[in-house]
Order: sequence, then structure tokens, then C-alpha cells
Amino acid sequence: MRIISHATVTWVIFIIVPSTSGFGYGKREQHLWPKTHKLCAGKLQSPVSISTSKAIPLPLPALEMIGYHDFLPMPQTLINDGRTVKLTINKNAIREKLPYVFGATLKPNQQYEIEQLHFHWGAKNNRGAEHVLNGLRYPMEMHIVHRSLAYANFSQALQHEDGVVVVAALFQLQDEHNEHLRPFLERLPDVKWAHAELSVNISITLTSLIPSDTDVFYTYKGSLTTPPCSEVITWIIFATPVPISFRQVFHIIIIFYCFV
Ligand SMILES: [Zn+2]
Repeated sequence: MRIISHATVTWVIFIIVPSTSGFGYGKREQHLWPKTHKLCAGKLQSPVSISTSKAIPLPLPALEMIGYHDFLPMPQTLINDGRTVKLTINKNAIREKLPYVFGATLKPNQQYEIEQLHFHWGAKNNRGAEHVLNGLRYPMEMHIVHRSLAYANFSQALQHEDGVVVVAALFQLQDEHNEHLRPFLERLPDVKWAHAELSVNISITLTSLIPSDTDVFYTYKGSLTTPPCSEVITWIIFATPVPISFRQVFHIIIIFYCFV
């Protein structure tokens, strides 16, 4: 398959052909999910293993990320749900609009507003991310979860196949710290224990958490990666990883060693 030269188009979007070769946490409990959540045995389950050579390259309209340069409204809520740490966005913030995305392969005129962001990591440096890219599993993956404004709330959006967009970034080890992560990492010890929840004022922009090159990404229709495994997620995964130092990854692993 011919890969379109990046010089000829501004944006290249790889459409991933769905397959059933997805995989997940590798925990024994995961095999039991379909017993209680039938959708977990579906055909569009995430995450998947992404192969550039098998993806279909397409020039498409840009993914527009509006408000990604703005500081997230404060206070946010930092939650340790026992599986991940998530930063939820204050919906009552005095701001006209929260960051949102549209364009690319998303339905025309449909806008997707941020709900929360969270991270996935693992005990070993090569086993943290959920998606595998060209045979590599990166140490960490971030998911920025967006809900379609066509639906009143996140629960309702989960009932519709065009309801939710997750923008994902993979993290790659480098020697130096990624200073953009510092405001977030500094607060993690405060939610060390499962089900801890805390109001925080973290000065952070979404732009600082995603790669500087967002022109190329992979997209496919998939699912929530945990029960109820709803197959309503449009995944957008940047091809370029975000840097993170080994010590920063280690910092997270040590705080939440009980997760892995
Ligand atoms: Zn996730």
C-alpha cells in the first residue's frame, strides 16, 4: 500500500481497519468481563494493535482542537478510581466553552467537548500503554475523553455510536524530564489511595500534554477499554509520541504500585 507523501497534504489520517485482534490489560479478570458485560465480547473492542503498513492513509480535513491552548478551568477534580487517575473538568466553569474537537472523520457539525483526561501506565516500562503501535507498547498513554454536544450528558452519549471521541497520546522515554507534566505529577501523591478524590488547581493546557506534531494520527471506531466496553468511541491516536523521562514514569509507578 502506498503511503501518501506528507509533503503533498497537510493532514494524513490513518483509518484503522477493525480487527478482532485487540487485547487489553492481560489480567485474569478481563476474560470474565463478557460474563457480566456482553459488549466486552464485541467485534469493535479497544485497544487494538496498530500497524502503519496495514492502516489506510487518507488526506482528510484537519482535526480542529479548539481551546487546547487555554488553561483548563479551575478547580478540577483529581480522582483515583482504583484503575487510573483522572482529571475531570469543572462543567460549571465560568467560561463560554470548554475545549472541544471537530473535523477529521467526525460527523459534520458535531462538536465534542472535553469531559476528563486520564492516564494508563504499567509496572514495566514497555507495558504501560493500551494501544500498541507498530509492535511497540509505549510506557504510558493518555486519553482525553470528549462527549458529543448533541447529547445532554456523558451517560447519554455512551448510548450512541457517535457519542464519544477519545484523543490519545502515547508517551516515549527520553533522558530529560518533560516539564509540561510537572504540575500534574506533583499532585499525584495526594490521591495515592484508591477512591481518593480531591479538588485541585492544576495550571495545565491540553496542548502541553499532546505531541507538537499532531498532523498525523490514526483513527478507528472502537470501544471503552473497560466495562461496560460500549462500542461508541471514535479513537484518535497521534502518531508522534510525547516525551517522558524514566524517573517521571517511575514516580507514577511508585505512587500507585498497587494498580499494576
Ligand atoms: Zn483510558
